[in-house]
Amino acid sequence: MEFRKLAEAFEHLEGTSSRLQMTDMLAELFKDARPDEADRIAYLLQGMVAPPFAGIEIGIGEKFVEQAVALATGYPVREVEKLYRDLGDLGSVAERLIEKKKQASLVKKTLSITDVFNSFRKIALAGGAGSQNIKIRTLAELLNNSSPLEARYFCRIPLGRLRLGVGDPTVLDALSVMKKGDKTLRPELERAYNLCSDLGLVARTFMEKGEKGLEKFELVPGNPVRPALAERLSSAREIIDKIGKCAVESKYDGFRLGIHKWDGKIRLFSRRLEDMTSMFPDIVDAVKALKAKEIIFEGEALAFNETTGEYRPFQETIQRKRKHGIAEKVVEFPLHVFAFDVLYLNGRDLTGKPYEERREMLEKLFSGAGVITPSEMQVISRPEKLEAFFDDAVSRGLEGVIAKDLRAPYVAGARKFAWIKLKRSYRGELADTIDVVVVGYYKGRGSRAQFGFGGLLTCVYDGETDEFKTIARIGSGFSEQQMGEFRKTLDAIKVPRRPARVDSLYEPDYWVEPKYVVTVKADEITKSPLHTCGRDAEGIGYALRFPRLISDLGRDKKPEDATTVAEIREMYNMQKRISASEGEA
Ligand code: AMP
Repeated sequence: MEFRKLAEAFEHLEGTSSRLQMTDMLAELFKDARPDEADRIAYLLQGMVAPPFAGIEIGIGEKFVEQAVALATGYPVREVEKLYRDLGDLGSVAERLIEKKKQASLVKKTLSITDVFNSFRKIALAGGAGSQNIKIRTLAELLNNSSPLEARYFCRIPLGRLRLGVGDPTVLDALSVMKKGDKTLRPELERAYNLCSDLGLVARTFMEKGEKGLEKFELVPGNPVRPALAERLSSAREIIDKIGKCAVESKYDGFRLGIHKWDGKIRLFSRRLEDMTSMFPDIVDAVKALKAKEIIFEGEALAFNETTGEYRPFQETIQRKRKHGIAEKVVEFPLHVFAFDVLYLNGRDLTGKPYEERREMLEKLFSGAGVITPSEMQVISRPEKLEAFFDDAVSRGLEGVIAKDLRAPYVAGARKFAWIKLKRSYRGELADTIDVVVVGYYKGRGSRAQFGFGGLLTCVYDGETDEFKTIARIGSGFSEQQMGEFRKTLDAIKVPRRPARVDSLYEPDYWVEPKYVVTVKADEITKSPLHTCGRDAEGIGYALRFPRLISDLGRDKKPEDATTVAEIREMYNMQKRISASEGEA
């Protein structure tokens, strides 16, 4: 397929805010593609040349893109810079200059999607001395052969400014529409995606092998698995009523790791599917020493004093998430992994087996002492017993417990009642923190005018519609330094109008691309006519009462991993149940 077609699709996608239209356009595009082009299209739609967890970024700085444009068009760099200042987008600059150049020279070569993909891959993989030169020349070569429209995207892709607003669920819907004419295959496509987190691999497998290929789809060691998630309930009794006799585990407050070992390789993935391997050499050593040759398992890593058996506070554990000075921190805050599930063992996908069987294997695998041990667990059938286990966990500084259905399989990427969390809560405050996506910000007024920053407009994610719905305007919890930093970072992703996937009644001073996720605490969830989260027929949605920021701009979280509308609804209902039972007491 010619890249021209993809460029035209990009242009149409930019021009629509209807998800339905987006899905149909993408379905048409996939219809015309070969299977070995489908994966490339899926990656390029996200401005990537590999799945995100592979850590291969195209990345070229603006200065180099300017040089490539100058080289390809014959205009001096100064002129390119000037035009960039006027237009504010290097894609539009390249488009305009190539247009002018077109009159002088003919386009030489028709570029296929594969040509373009390979060029961007070459740019991404170039490293070491002379790599800048290779990047500039490769981009210039693409521009030399491009139409004005193609040039627009050849510059936006490596700068990370494609911003089409196409989420992964939209691509999955489009694949279904391509084959079936409707979205009925979305669950099968989603299952495969949850197992491998690689949209390209799913698209290609589906195009090559159809529905059969999806049915047979299994875990791929080295590809992170989208984690199973826990539901919430508010009491031991509710849990026993829901799933009966169950396994109750301590809930550790560290960070979740998906740990893969295969072919002599080891990879550790965060809950957000980033590769964390180089940060935790102590865990890598422990995994190396495991007898199992091929394994995927999950556990919670936290700083832990092996001698006293004391759990260290999260503020200490989090110090291990760093790119520099790793060796010293390994000594200062050694990590312990509490393994809580095993998903794959020596060529066998275990996700379909019941928890009970997986747990048995887990206990055998990690029976010795050392850095990795099984999470604490008790099988419990009475609420009073569960209550006692919970009180004991909390008194030892743990967050609470997670109850697990003994018969349930491991369902990647899904929030099910297979796992139910019960957390300690404080009066007058939501027990859970909420992850929200920043979609806009307000100019500072009054004492904040000097920072040019007054607060954020934030959203949660609606998995049903693949949209972001507003839930809070956040003005507290910022340090003075943070206000400056937020403004600077958000200015770089400002967009002129409301992004297509954002549903909002508010109009902030500046809209930004939904990219950054921050964590907030709030007193409670209230009903509100001002927000679009969970909005009903009467126009009433949910809002956060007294939201306050408790994190930095979490660059490593994906917007689709924010708290969802469904979770907010559930937290609201739970809050109602708790206050009703407190009223009874
Ligand atoms: P939450 O992040 O509050 O929704 O709770 C779910 C998280 O608890 C998981 O993603 C894990 O990171 C963490 N966790 C801690 N201990 C366990 C455990 N024993 N089983 C499963 N998850 C656990």
